[in-house]
Amino acid sequence: MDRKYVTEKVLADAAGIARAAEILRAGGLVAVPTETVYGLAARADSEEAVAQIFAAKGRPSFNPLIVHVSDADQARALVAMEPRALALADRFWPGPLTLVLPRHENAAVTSSIHAGLPTLAVRCPAHPVMRAVLDELAIPVAAPSANASETVSPTTPEHVLATLDGRIDAVLDAGASERGLESTIVALRQDGGWSLLREGPIGREILEDALGSEASNGRGIEAPGQMRRHYAPGKPLRLNARNAEPGEFLIGFGAIEGDVTLSATGDVNEAASRLYACLHLAAASDKPRIAVAPVPEDAVGRAINDRLRRAAAPRGGNQRSGS
Ligand code: AMP
Ligand code: MG
Repeated sequence: MDRKYVTEKVLADAAGIARAAEILRAGGLVAVPTETVYGLAARADSEEAVAQIFAAKGRPSFNPLIVHVSDADQARALVAMEPRALALADRFWPGPLTLVLPRHENAAVTSSIHAGLPTLAVRCPAHPVMRAVLDELAIPVAAPSANASETVSPTTPEHVLATLDGRIDAVLDAGASERGLESTIVALRQDGGWSLLREGPIGREILEDALGSEASNGRGIEAPGQMRRHYAPGKPLRLNARNAEPGEFLIGFGAIEGDVTLSATGDVNEAASRLYACLHLAAASDKPRIAVAPVPEDAVGRAINDRLRRAAAPRGGNQRSGS
């Protein structure tokens, strides 16, 4: 791939946060730490800036982006925050919950973010460094995961540089992401229904507790995270493995040890935070194939299994490709 940029590596201290905000204000691209994964940020009101995200990632243009806001007031300027949205924001923001809501016609976001949909996806992230950048910038940013389209998501600056070095202006280094899985995405329908578009750190039970049982009016909204093949490590991946077959790099869990482990104690939250790091190690190993031990389907385990199934899906399995 072309190396258009000399990518600055910036430490996330006060000077680094100011530098990141300065680059973003000027329309540049900065990989920023969030509590879920590293995001590739650009100011949401600039078509030129957002176009650079799609170019750097090799992301298809029909695939809409999440807008990251500093608080619910900033979201309110972009989307209709109906009572359920306000209640969810009150309970889960800042945090790993993305809301898909009707977009105001005059919302100051460029059209490639929403790909022409009448809705917009908004999230208020919790990571203190990301919050400091958003506060300093005072403009919402679009930020998909900071990796080349279809590759494993980044939870460290090193993961970001593995596919985007020379393709972005800077990476703001705040160490490893705590949660390690992309945000839960919920669409609130105008008819009072809702749907879970992407599993994530906030589980279905918690949402049903807040919103009642999931009911969608069936009008499919496209979410790239829902595509069958995604998060691809570039090698065949076998699920529910009890041991390694010849040529396999085994990712363990609980009593199944493996070459690396998601969590030796069988803790699904630890497994979520380590999932992409383990997939990056497996991809970089000299073994031609990957196997992963079973992970229980409870709580965030469902989101982990969702990502693993997509990582295991065969090449060419997507009608559309995402990132
Ligand atoms: P990514 O940025 O790669 O984590 O993916 C962004 C996620 O947000 C994808 O699953 C998108 O489809 C989803 N998304 C963004 N905007 C919308 C929208 N207006 N309607 C439905 N899903 C959306
Ligand atoms: Mg992504």
